[in-house]
Amino acid sequence: MFNPFVYKRPNNLEQVFTLLDQNEDVKIIAGGTDLLVKLREADRSPELLVDIKDLEKLKGIKKNKNEIKIGALTTITEIKESKLIKDEFDALYQAASQFGCYEIRNRATIGGNVVHASPGAEFGVVLFALNAEVEVVGKRDVKRMPIKEFLYDVGSVKLNNELLKSIIIKNKPDLKSSYHRISRVKGMDLALVNAALVKDDKAQYTSYFGAVARTPYNNNKVDELLSQSNLNKALFVKIQKIVDESISPRATSLRASPEYKKKMVVSLLKKCLRDIGEIGDDIDG
Ligand SMILES: Cc1cc2nc3c(=O)[nH]c(=O)nc-3n(C[C@H](O)[C@H](O)[C@H](O)COP(=O)(O)OP(=O)(O)OC[C@H]3O[C@@H](n4cnc5c(N)ncnc54)[C@H](O)[C@@H]3O)c2cc1C
Repeated sequence: MFNPFVYKRPNNLEQVFTLLDQNEDVKIIAGGTDLLVKLREADRSPELLVDIKDLEKLKGIKKNKNEIKIGALTTITEIKESKLIKDEFDALYQAASQFGCYEIRNRATIGGNVVHASPGAEFGVVLFALNAEVEVVGKRDVKRMPIKEFLYDVGSVKLNNELLKSIIIKNKPDLKSSYHRISRVKGMDLALVNAALVKDDKAQYTSYFGAVARTPYNNNKVDELLSQSNLNKALFVKIQKIVDESISPRATSLRASPEYKKKMVVSLLKKCLRDIGEIGDDIDG
């Protein structure tokens, strides 16, 4: 049973930080699609629930000369429907398209997805592969850090009475990217394994895989091989060997065995490469 709690919906950051200062047992809620499930599972309510949906400063997708800024409160539907995202960051568009179902996409926010920091979350791998940064706002200042520093463990991000304000991705000319996932139930399940691949204008690849480690997983050797070799069948045998030897997915996962996940890593990598036109159908898997 949920205990009675107080619900506040401030419309500016000052009020949020005052509430955070004055109360010990507070939870921030954005779309609520992770938080409410978590509270129900824990069978408890915080004393105070602070709904941040009215904070205009955390909304919108904006582009300037050097970068694109996605407000933490941007919903998955807004990302899916953004022409800017679709034109420039295919992987983000694909992640938003494969995410949950219509109703969940309308409520869930990209900020909530990052802060919840689930190993198989849609946006973790994509934002790591794009080398994104985050803006964190506190009572006194706004600081910026790489997402790889911000999201450092399962369910753990660097926030201390602060809010995630936005996600920033550098504009790069001729960047190609792709995202794919495998899940048991289309749309209503987290990924069993997911993968994001980026190829920059210097033909350097960056790949990240989710749900195979505590945070999005990258192996430099795989990226180097992709960047320096012919993308043929023999190369993928080598990559599979590296993956088999270097990744140790949890053996206790109820979703899939470690062996299956390792095979799927390479299969999804090929799917991403096919997407961006780097390999054809002659390379199977
Ligand atoms: C049916 C269903 C299907 C789902 N499918 C998917 C899926 O396909 N892929 C996927 O990745 N996830 C999925 N999810 C999980 C969830 O929808 C996402 O992780 C979502 O993006 C969370 O965003 P939210 O706005 O709802 O976060 P909330 O639940 O509101 O918050 C999540 C956490 O982040 C904190 N928080 C939120 N915003 C901020 C902020 N700006 N600053 C500081 N802290 C913040 C909250 O305090 C809370 O701890 C699904 C969930 C359900 C119920």
